[in-house]
Order: sequence, then structure tokens, then C-alpha cells
Amino acid sequence: MTTGDKLRDFGLWCLREMWIDGGGDIDGGAAQDQAQELGLLVEVTVNQPCNSNCYCADMNDGEFPCQCLRYSNDVHDAMLNKKV
Ligand SMILES: [Zn+2]
Repeated sequence: MTTGDKLRDFGLWCLREMWIDGGGDIDGGAAQDQAQELGLLVEVTVNQPCNSNCYCADMNDGEFPCQCLRYSNDVHDAMLNKKV
């Protein structure tokens, strides 16, 4: 599955989610789960805060190592290049 295929499937999932129960918001947690399932987001083990806005440690009671959820390399590249 190409990066474009994964992003297309995620977009279709978002469009479907918008219309559940007559339309509305997309649940952020559900979107995150879907992105992980498609490989758009990946977990990386980190031993220190990622940056000054790091949520990883907060999600793990301030303990390291912990899991950081990041864009996959292909998605990161696509975002920088703004094309897939
Ligand atoms: Zn992080």
C-alpha cells in the first residue's frame, strides 16, 4: 500500500465518520487509532522528552522510556513535500 493509498483510506474513513449519527465531529482518539492502523502514525520508544511540548512522558506518568506517537517517515516526507 503506497503512502497515497494510506492517506486516501484515511480521508475516506474521515468522510464516513463525519456522517455517523447525522454528521458532526470526528473523534480525535478514533482518528488516531485509524491512523495507527493504516501506518500513518507509529510508536517510537523514547528515553527523554521529544521537545518542549512533549506529551509522551505525561501520558506515561513522567516515566521514561515511553512510547511517542509520530508520523511515519513516508507521511513526514509527504507533509514536507506537500505531495504524495
Ligand atoms: Zn514524543
